[in-house]
Amino acid sequence: MTRERKKFEIDEHKREFLSRNQVCEICGKPATQLAHRIPQTETNLRIYGPSIIHHDLNLAAVCGLKHNAAVNIGRNPEAVKALVLQIRRDNDAR
Ligand SMILES: [Zn+2]
Repeated sequence: MTRERKKFEIDEHKREFLSRNQVCEICGKPATQLAHRIPQTETNLRIYGPSIIHHDLNLAAVCGLKHNAAVNIGRNPEAVKALVLQIRRDNDAR
């Protein structure tokens, strides 16, 4: 798959996720952005792979930067480990 095609599919997935999740999961206000629980960094993409980083369970609809930061578990290794396991189980079940 080409890089452009892949990027297009990820963007589509994000739009589709926000259309299903329209309120901030922290405060319930209208969601304006998509947050990643395990941050979408080059390093994390290399370590965990796109199937983890772009998975629905790693995404959260939020109202802004403050609550974007609130769902970030990047500094909590135990939480990251638990979420990665949960996503792997979900990916295996598909
Ligand atoms: Zn909020």
